[in-house]
Amino acid sequence: MAYLKFPKPEPRFKLKNHTRFIASLLVFLLMVTAVVVALGKRGETGDSEAASVVVTPFVPPPTPELTPPPIEIPAGKTMEKVKVVIDAGHGGDDPGTTSPYEDEFYEKEVTLDIALKVRDLLTEAGIDVVVTRDTDTRLANNQREDLMLRAQLANENSATLFVSIHVNAYDLKFKGARQVNGMEIYYLNKQPIYDGFNSEQFAGIMGKAIQTQNGIYNRGIIESDLSVLRNTKMPAVLVETAYITNQEDHDRLKSDEFRTNTAIGITEGIKQALDILEVFEYEGDLYVFKETGS
Ligand SMILES: [Zn+2]
Repeated sequence: MAYLKFPKPEPRFKLKNHTRFIASLLVFLLMVTAVVVALGKRGETGDSEAASVVVTPFVPPPTPELTPPPIEIPAGKTMEKVKVVIDAGHGGDDPGTTSPYEDEFYEKEVTLDIALKVRDLLTEAGIDVVVTRDTDTRLANNQREDLMLRAQLANENSATLFVSIHVNAYDLKFKGARQVNGMEIYYLNKQPIYDGFNSEQFAGIMGKAIQTQNGIYNRGIIESDLSVLRNTKMPAVLVETAYITNQEDHDRLKSDEFRTNTAIGITEGIKQALDILEVFEYEGDLYVFKETGS
């Protein structure tokens, strides 16, 4: 058989090769050790030989001391997050003004729709917003308390600005009542919480911003001691969007286009006011400086 032609390898030969292999391996290991030791020595301060062959696990650098924010808060001011409170007038058992032209068309429905549109637009713009209601409800069963709770909500949220949305009506007992139309912005100046900015300026800005967007006749700004204006601590305005007692205004109030444009106008007015307040971004949130009032 063919394999018998090859002689069986001699044990001596095999042993000799094996020894050579062990010797080579030892030399190789010695060289590797030498390299590892040399590399280890290069990076250490020479206190421990053992440390040079131990692979040191990665240790993250210690967390630096908390540094103060890179924002200097001016003396006499506080830094607060921007939050706008939008108040949809009336709700639930309180319908607000009612249409003389159509059954079951109420102020409360228009105010809620516009308020929710403003909420969505502000949210899209990255501005924090709170609405006093987002359903057909009122905050309390009597009007006095209901209005107090709306102002209280704004104060508790330390709101930057407050906007209350309403629909106007003219007393139909008066001659020519149905001819009265347009928008009015109500305000009441209070103890200012911002340097050089008050409710009156806010009202002026708001009226122009809304008129620019929806084209309604702007009847101007009116100082008035209304509950939500008196009881809120921040610049506040009450927008009487249009007259439900005027046929053309009534049709506007019914249309989604007018409501959307009014909401865009209110949002623009808020943005312009925030610009004047020099609102700034810090770590992804918007902030404003307020007077401490002391
Ligand atoms: Zn109202």
